Amino acid sequence: MDLLFTDLDGTLLDRDTYCWQAARPALDCLRRKGIPWVIVSSKTRAEIEFWRGQLDNRHPFVVENGGAAFVPLRYFPSAVSGARRRDSYDVMEWGTPYERLVTDLHSASRISQCRVRGFHEMTPEEVASVCGMSLEQAVLAKQREYDEPFLVLDSARAEALAAAIVDLGRQWTRGGRFWHILGANDKAVAVEALAELFPRGADPLRTIGLGDGLNDAAFLRRMAVPVLIRSPQAAALQTRVPRGLVTDQPGPAGWNDAVLALIGD
Ligand SMILES: [Mg+2]
Repeated sequence: MDLLFTDLDGTLLDRDTYCWQAARPALDCLRRKGIPWVIVSSKTRAEIEFWRGQLDNRHPFVVENGGAAFVPLRYFPSAVSGARRRDSYDVMEWGTPYERLVTDLHSASRISQCRVRGFHEMTPEEVASVCGMSLEQAVLAKQREYDEPFLVLDSARAEALAAAIVDLGRQWTRGGRFWHILGANDKAVAVEALAELFPRGADPLRTIGLGDGLNDAAFLRRMAVPVLIRSPQAAALQTRVPRGLVTDQPGPAGWNDAVLALIGD
């Protein structure tokens, strides 16, 4: 049985246009074969719910770099142990509350004398412009629960900032445009917990992971088949995921080729 985990930005979605249509043949193939595909993103629940609607995805999903996993109610035959019911989901939570992360980001900035600009300081208009997204998407992106994205304004002090974040007991990671401060969660922990929940058939489970950023490295390393989507970070990502297969094309076109090569007939 195949089980697929995928990042969104720069992976299934084009990093500049957010288009996914180049991946339609592979998405159709997944649907036809009944292969579950789980979105694993730094995006918020509100954003991922939007994209699940666009992509017609009904599967569980992981938000904000592993802050929590949302499992639609009754998706699995038995209840999800350790989960908290919220709206129409069973929610498994690993993240640190957002307000604490924002406080720690400011402390780390002060200690390292590295100025930052966090999502919480940006208006929806500014987020829309920096991320190249619509105002509607920016409003969804600002509904954060477990992860604060930020821009580093003094890049020469970035290392000191990263060290200060670690000293405060938090983690940092870097996606496409933004740095992130987060708690003890990462995508890998959430992905492993979710993978455990899928019923094992007679066939052995084959996990396939697709990502393009350094924040995908930990979860990709745990996949039977890690796929690295071509991007400016692909070389750095490959040193962390040596088994990773790098696609020829970036974004959804690379995603499509890789998924069809793995599951197509
Ligand atoms: Mg990405």
